[in-house]
Amino acid sequence: MTDAPKILDGKKLSQAVARTLNKKINTLAPTVGRPPGLAVILVGENPASKTYVAAKHRFAKECGVRTFDIKLPDNVSERELTQVINDLNTNIEVDGILLQLPLPKPLDGAHFTRMIAPEKDADGLHPLNQGLLMQGLPAPRSCTPLGVMTMLDLALSNISLNDTTTLEDIPLASLAGKSAIVIGRSQLVGKPVGFLLLERNATVTFAHSKTHDLPAVCRAADIVVAAVGVPRLVKGEWIKPGAIVLDVGINRTDDGKLVGDVDYDAAASLASAITPVPGGVGPMTVAMLMSNTVENFERRNGIQV
Ligand code: NAP
Repeated sequence: MTDAPKILDGKKLSQAVARTLNKKINTLAPTVGRPPGLAVILVGENPASKTYVAAKHRFAKECGVRTFDIKLPDNVSERELTQVINDLNTNIEVDGILLQLPLPKPLDGAHFTRMIAPEKDADGLHPLNQGLLMQGLPAPRSCTPLGVMTMLDLALSNISLNDTTTLEDIPLASLAGKSAIVIGRSQLVGKPVGFLLLERNATVTFAHSKTHDLPAVCRAADIVVAAVGVPRLVKGEWIKPGAIVLDVGINRTDDGKLVGDVDYDAAASLASAITPVPGGVGPMTVAMLMSNTVENFERRNGIQV
């Protein structure tokens, strides 16, 4: 048993992101002559997608980002969707394009994600941008991994979030000499978060479904990022005392409860800092979508990011 862990509150941290972006936009928009613009494309009636899209619009408003709300029926043709994306790619008022996934069948989400102009990629999922991440070059980074990194900075800082905190108050943490395990190797979360950790000098191990003795590999890590999609896979005894635990997983149990990939209570008794589920990494994903949109706006207007 260690001291009580720092609970990494994603809602509060996302408010700090909103304040930071709002301040930035208030300075930049008068110079550029317009605020940053984010187009959100929702195809069909998937209830979860509708909820996520509504949250994105709400958060954009808080930040001062203008949104373009594009709703298409679930029987939209490939040709029509292509046309919508092409129009947004050439619309000068649009800095970020978000295509809410999954798309209804038979539309292929990966195919349409690749159609978004890389410089307007709000999600950081375009293959070109993921390649630039691997090369350590500037480009929009994937949102959930960016959110994880900001939470890690918070964990390693002595900052307590309050109603005036902005990201400028949270220093970039040094990860040199720290070992990190990323459990999960998806394009969406695992791989990009691993590269972001590596970029910041952590020593990174990628674990996945074929990893042998995952508990032992996990116990060696100072930083644990779980992005698996298996409820409470990571047990308390897998956690090295004092480790930082960042739980990306969002899973619904049979009794309707939302839980992460980590057995929260058991891990919290050993960790130095931990993200709750819900209210941890989730809100930071939306926040980083807005951060990417504002950075795209800056790059597209020749402002140094
Ligand atoms: P994914 O594409 O299904 O990838 C899951 C990864 O976990 C795979 O690499 C898989 O290994 C690995 N895995 C599966 N079972 C395992 C096991 N028993 N032991 C070790 N590794 C195992 O999932 P994802 O899109 O990355 O999402 C992961 C979780 O994060 C989900 O719960 C998702 O809902 C959540 N999520 C949350 C946010 C957020 O904003 N908080 C955003 C995105 C995703 P293999 O490669 O060997 O199959």
